Amino acid sequence: MKRTITLLTLAFAAMLMLTASQGAGLKNYQCKKCAIVVRAEQAPSALGCRVDGSHQWQELGAVGMMNYHCMKCRVNVENRYEPSPKSCPNGGDHQWNKLGKVGPLRFQCRKCGLDIRTEDTPNPIGCPNGGNHQWYKSH
Ligand SMILES: [Zn+2]
Ligand SMILES: [Zn+2]
Ligand SMILES: [Zn+2]
Repeated sequence: MKRTITLLTLAFAAMLMLTASQGAGLKNYQCKKCAIVVRAEQAPSALGCRVDGSHQWQELGAVGMMNYHCMKCRVNVENRYEPSPKSCPNGGDHQWNKLGKVGPLRFQCRKCGLDIRTEDTPNPIGCPNGGNHQWYKSH
């Protein structure tokens, strides 16, 4: 009987690990100081910020199928919904632009170098280098 319980516990633990590796519950976190974005289930370690040694994480939301790009801090996140505008590392609020659904194609902007995965040519709005992005298929 005791053995059965152990086996069940093991099976349950394996199931949990499988779920985790499939990315359930992943969120995008951005450091308010160095602007780096990391995907994790909970706030990542504070160690290693290039600004002053310790990151200050801000949760941007659940990882999802839409590209959101901030033209101020130049990050692009694949998020489920528009991230909060709070705390852009460049000062003030983020300025998010919806660039298109995540898909199998890769596009890069000739002007700012942004490289994203979409279903179709991304929205040209909001190139941080001025005016519109100039997309070309990079793969
Ligand atoms: Zn940092
Ligand atoms: Zn920003
Ligand atoms: Zn651009």
